[in-house]
Amino acid sequence: MNSLIDPLTGLPSQTSFLQQADNLLERACIPLSLIYIDPRLYYEGGMLNSLEESEKILLHLAEVLRSLAAMPLRASSTDEAEDGLCGRLSSGIFVLLIPTEREQAALDTIIHSKLSWTRGFFLPAIGIAHFHKSDPHEQASALCHRAGLACSLRALDGGIAFYDEVDWDRISQNQVLLEELPLALERKEFSVYFQPQYELRTGKMVGAEALARWIHPILGRLLPDYFIPLVNKCHMLREFNQYIWDFTASYLKNMIHDGIRPLPISINLSPEEVHDPEMGHFLEQLPDRYGLSPRLLPVELTESAWITPDDDAIHLIKRLRKKGFCVMMDDFGSGFSSLSRLASLPVDTLKLDMSFLETDSPKNRALLSSILSMGRSLNLNIIPEGIETKDQAELLMQLGYRYGQGFYYSHPLSPGQYRKLMEKTGR
Ligand code: C2E
Ligand code: MG
Ligand code: MG
Repeated sequence: MNSLIDPLTGLPSQTSFLQQADNLLERACIPLSLIYIDPRLYYEGGMLNSLEESEKILLHLAEVLRSLAAMPLRASSTDEAEDGLCGRLSSGIFVLLIPTEREQAALDTIIHSKLSWTRGFFLPAIGIAHFHKSDPHEQASALCHRAGLACSLRALDGGIAFYDEVDWDRISQNQVLLEELPLALERKEFSVYFQPQYELRTGKMVGAEALARWIHPILGRLLPDYFIPLVNKCHMLREFNQYIWDFTASYLKNMIHDGIRPLPISINLSPEEVHDPEMGHFLEQLPDRYGLSPRLLPVELTESAWITPDDDAIHLIKRLRKKGFCVMMDDFGSGFSSLSRLASLPVDTLKLDMSFLETDSPKNRALLSSILSMGRSLNLNIIPEGIETKDQAELLMQLGYRYGQGFYYSHPLSPGQYRKLMEKTGR
């Protein structure tokens, strides 16, 4: 495969576009515009176009851009007229570099190009960054990045944003994401990945943890530590977690329907949610709504939430356990859990914080060993998290740990990947 050509459209790939664009910028003597186009292909109902439909649209768009780029321009300091440039970046984004004086005409052509013959619909989001010859060291990649940032502002409603006109002091990338969040939920851009948990000695899978992911159309897969604070900030934690839990419960239900014996998948509860009676109610009803045993949906609550001065957390947990849920204390040992209090807490499993595996010292081994014996005497399961190496796995087995979770065994898997794994092991 030729890495200089985008295999679908035949346009220059990211590498060759950026190389040619750098050359052009170096010699340019007129203002240029970098037009960054995120094609975003949807049916009106919000569904993705079929693959063939999408391909047709992308090929058509490539043709339009090729003809716009092909018009000779007097852009360079040599007297020879040369063509503009277009290409397709590895993320699937289309880019066009042309003189700014032709920018408006090009935008009209792109927006109104005859794409209506397809059944799907075409709602590109477009970002534009300008190159001024006063900056002789400008790099094409930086220009693309700026146009991409502007584009991300408009990614959800389609439309055009000019980088120079955005007040970037006011709008940080977080702000952009914050504005996108409500629609991202509506557009089902959130997904759930599943990280398996194993019995260490036998390598048998015993369960999994549901971990939220935001599959952002431009920025790619975002991790929860990054976006959950934003979800919180825009007061959407309830909707967000309900979406994740519904996703997980319906995923389990589908597996059972298809004859696969499911293993429990634990879900995470944010500390803030223990104060929201509606969330408690929602959780209690969840297994019944999907015809599942509550045993299939253990609930993880981070250690810090167990020591809140008001006892909302304890109250909620007691209710959940009464209903048949297993309750796990997540990130155990990351804060200042009072060991003496552990005996009186309504908890079934401790998820041992990954910091315990960071260093291997005699002191740390002694600590791991005493946590295990304390767990045994209190009748608690312990699942160490963050096992990344064979040595760590062997140490835990030597000490007598039975279960574990971590990249050494498996990274979080997409719903499709986890399902394949379950099809192999759960029939
Ligand atoms: P957590 O519940 O303690 O989840 C474990 C985190 O450790 C996950 O990060 C997982 O990908 C990561 N991890 C697993 N094995 C390893 C390893 O071997 N090495 C390292 N370095 N990391 C490992 P992730 O998915 O980024 O989640 C971060 C946190 O975000 C979670 O920590 C949980 O507190 C929160 N979270 C995730 N999904 C949800 C959700 O749906 N709702 C709520 N409320 N919180 C969530
Ligand atoms: Mg967790
Ligand atoms: Mg954890």
